[in-house]
Amino acid sequence: MSFLNKYRKITDTVILFLLTFFFCYVGGHLRLPFVFSMFWIANAVIAGIFVRYPSTHRPINYLVCALAMFLNDYLFSGWLYSAILINTANIIFIAIVALGLKGLWKHHSKQLTPKQVLILFPVCLAAALASGIWGGIVSTSGTVASDIVINISLWVSEQLSTGLMILPLILSFKRSKKFEWQYTSVLAVLSVPVLFLFASLIKGPGSIVFPLPILIWCALVLPVFISTLITFLVGVLEIMMVYEDIMSNHALDSYPEAMALVSIRLGVAAMVLTPFMVSVTIDAITTLNKQLEIRANTDFLTQLLSRAGLFEKLSRLPLKNGQSVGMILFDIDYFKSINDTFGHQAGDEVLSDLGYLLRRDYKKKFYIARFGGEEFAMIGLNICQQALYEQAELLRQRVAQHEFSLGDRSLSITISLGLAMGTTKSNEGWQQLITRLMSQSDTRLYLSKAGGRNQTTPNWSEGSLLISDQRQT
Ligand code: GH3
Ligand code: MG
Ligand code: MG
Repeated sequence: MSFLNKYRKITDTVILFLLTFFFCYVGGHLRLPFVFSMFWIANAVIAGIFVRYPSTHRPINYLVCALAMFLNDYLFSGWLYSAILINTANIIFIAIVALGLKGLWKHHSKQLTPKQVLILFPVCLAAALASGIWGGIVSTSGTVASDIVINISLWVSEQLSTGLMILPLILSFKRSKKFEWQYTSVLAVLSVPVLFLFASLIKGPGSIVFPLPILIWCALVLPVFISTLITFLVGVLEIMMVYEDIMSNHALDSYPEAMALVSIRLGVAAMVLTPFMVSVTIDAITTLNKQLEIRANTDFLTQLLSRAGLFEKLSRLPLKNGQSVGMILFDIDYFKSINDTFGHQAGDEVLSDLGYLLRRDYKKKFYIARFGGEEFAMIGLNICQQALYEQAELLRQRVAQHEFSLGDRSLSITISLGLAMGTTKSNEGWQQLITRLMSQSDTRLYLSKAGGRNQTTPNWSEGSLLISDQRQT
């Protein structure tokens, strides 16, 4: 185990080294006319990994990442001392983000929370400021104040925007739950390039927020990771478009042009968190709704449907005319004596065990609900009278033969059953049909009890109750 752990740690370190080296290499080749990169992705990627996989957040890995950065600069730019100074800024960014978000992001949880998204902005801002001020100063060759200001602004704005675009991507990666594409989701994705094209035609300072409504739409209808990925792509394209625009006419080393790049980066930074926040909030609300729905529709003790859950399930089915519906209603015999003899806890265990048996053997054929107390209902669709009776008898025998374990002893129980058959009508809702079947099967359940318990009523082959049922329906 410890060997495996050690092996895992070494692999993590090697992967971090390679990733840092790769992203520094990419960043180095996206350099603006001078030392600054258009997108310096490495810092946010490494910080994101440290936060997402806390076991990788170790001093040795900082050292290894710094080494990869240094090596990259030394090999491809020939820097030596300046590489040490400049890469310190990168390490500052990584450390502030990793420490600032540490503990808040449960790496194994499927769910991100709005609170986590809120903390992302101040932490990224602090990291970008600290790293940018240091980086801006050490990367300025002269002592001209305006040069230093430009460099700091370029550095801070780049780290802030890249951080806010990359970190949500890494933090939401592989957290997405099951998702079904619907036409609104496809439409949202297809609208992104259309609006983007529109923005690129209109141009001007306002065009940066043109994609925002579509990004929010994406956030509403897509999984968090996919909507975050789209936001990321839009952000990157927007920055690149403005950069292209600047570079076609001017050089970046003059104050207004540099500030135009700073401005678009800050604008993108301010924009990208909004869709992320929306998608995480919607995700949290959806999960909460699902949990509430499960709680409301499930019986806790038996894990079967509750009475409300059964109606909810049925109400979602299309009601076709002439579909046969069978109902088995049953009640445990002398259950009170189990409680009285073995205690309420033992009674609960029997109910829970019975729930397990029903789910295991009947879930595929029936909707099964606990109707309160020790009474259960099973609804079968497209089932004939004979099959319903056979299933009910089989269940009665199975329960009678089953040994319900109570700690070190076991116990047998019997059930009494009442059946009813009906046919769906398009002018009648599920609620009416089930209520009618319930009242019929309840009468028959009572007959089973009165007849000596541990039996099923009616016996269809005898037909007497069937005739009265048809008269009623
Ligand atoms: P019968 O054969 O006529 O059905 O007799 P019975 O004792 O089963 O019927 P009765 O309705 O008199 O008693 C049902 C008992 O079920 C009473 C109640 O204490 C018990 N009960 C209802 N819900 C629960 C539960 O959730 N847990 C436990 N342990 N007992 C429950
Ligand atoms: Mg009973
Ligand atoms: Mg009862």
